[in-house]
Formats: sequence, structure tokens, C-alpha cells
Amino acid sequence: MENNDRKMTCPILADTHCHVIEGRDGYADAEAVFARAAAAGVARMLLAGSTIPTSVMAVATAGKYSSLGVFAAVGVHPHDASSIPSCSVEGKGIPPELAELASSPRVVAVGETGLDYHYDHSPREQQKEAFRAHIRWSIESGLPLVVHGRESYGDIISIFREEGASATTGVIHCFSGTEEDAAFFLEAGYCLSFAGPLTFARNEGLRDLFRTLPADRILLETDSPWLAPVPYRGKTNEPAFVKLVYETAAEVRGVSLEELARTVSANAARLFRWGDPCAGGEAGR
Ligand SMILES: [Zn+2]
Ligand SMILES: [Zn+2]
Repeated sequence: MENNDRKMTCPILADTHCHVIEGRDGYADAEAVFARAAAAGVARMLLAGSTIPTSVMAVATAGKYSSLGVFAAVGVHPHDASSIPSCSVEGKGIPPELAELASSPRVVAVGETGLDYHYDHSPREQQKEAFRAHIRWSIESGLPLVVHGRESYGDIISIFREEGASATTGVIHCFSGTEEDAAFFLEAGYCLSFAGPLTFARNEGLRDLFRTLPADRILLETDSPWLAPVPYRGKTNEPAFVKLVYETAAEVRGVSLEELARTVSANAARLFRWGDPCAGGEAGR
């Protein structure tokens, strides 16, 4: 039985970036993970694909759990850019089996894509070509772009300029750049999203930056199964833990958890067009 008192005070939360894909990354029991998310008040979740197979699985998982507000982004992570030969050759772009996924009503974004120079799992030239292809796909499809950057914001900004990425919109997920980087992406019309690192003790600089951002451009996420917030750091992350990110974020900005939840919910609904649960929106498009 639900506790009505608790339900009334439970804020409605969105986890705007996670990878809860059935049978992968430690989620043998995705149903239980989604049930715990729902119990924690998480009413919207975006599952980000990172390869063609995980994009297919993200769409299937989003379909299976559609009643819980689960949606998908489809794309190839910079780590896996070299797994997509046609992405790595100028002019060939997104392979059809990936592009076709965008027609699903559960798909609300293109990604995740971007550049990762911390790990360099794929050669940088291939990462760049794949990233360019995703930007063009986002512009053509009208679906917002989910961008991953690590130690690579300089090149991301150059490619944004060259490809005219302000013709579409999107989010820089798990933002870890400078004030200047943030200013560029805001000017381009993008949102900035923050995950567990916002709660880490040493990240005072990140919290200082977060405090100054315009309220209508912030998003929050878990990036599950990685980056679990304090006090779960180092453990398998899951969407229910996004509440800890919201709590830190509310404290940093000096607003109530409820107010912050309404703000982020509205921002996410505007970007992903998935209905604002805080405004009574249905989980549809
Ligand atoms: Zn990422
Ligand atoms: Zn991710």
C-alpha cells in the first residue's frame, strides 16, 4: 500500500541521462531498478544508447517501461565511434539501422555523442567524424542532441561552430567544463546537465559554476550505472539516486527541493517534448 502522506511530499524528478538497459551493466533486474526509481518519485528517465545494439535495447526498454515515463536517446558514444565505420568516413553519416530508430515514439533525442579525450577508446579523428554525423542527424531529424565531453570541450566547441550546432538544441551532459565553455553552450541554446560529481567534496568549483547558471537551462541526471552520488560513490548507480543530486543542487542554489524539481522537470519537458509531469503532462509526445 502506498503511503499517501509520503506520496504528497515526494517531489517529481527527472533523470535526464542514464543507461539502465535490461541485462547490461549490472542491471540483471531492470524491473526492480525502475520500481525503485518510481518509488523515489522519478517520473521521467532518458536511457542513452552508446552503440547500435544498446540503442536498440534502450528503445525496447523504454517501450516496455513506457508507463513509468522511460524514453530513449539513440546514438554512438565517442568511445565506440570506431565501431561504426560509416560514421568515421566523411559524408557517409549515420548508418540506416541507427537512423531508423528515430521513428520510434519512445525516442526523444540523438546521442550520446561527443568527444572523449580522457580515455581515447576510439581514434580522435573517428570520434570527430561520428560527432559531426550526429550533429547533422540532430539538425535533420529535429531531435535534440545529447553531448558527452571529457577533456575535449575545445574541439567540441570548434565542431559546434563548423557544423552550425546552434541550428538544433540539446544538452551537454555531465558538464565538467569552464565558465567560458558554459557561456558558449548557453549562447548556442543548449542546456547543461549535472550528475553525481556535483555531490563530490572536491568539486567546489563545479558547484560555484552551477550556482550561477540560468534556471531555465539546468538539467540533472545520474549517468547510471556510473558516477553514483555521495554516499553511494563507487557503487552501481541507479535512477532512484538522482534525488541525492537534486538535494545537493537545491542546496547549492538556495531553493527548495520542490522548486528545483519543478524547474528541472519543465526544462527537460521543453527539451525532450515528453510532457511535464509536474504540470500534469502525460508521458507521450
Ligand atoms: Zn557520457
Ligand atoms: Zn552516458
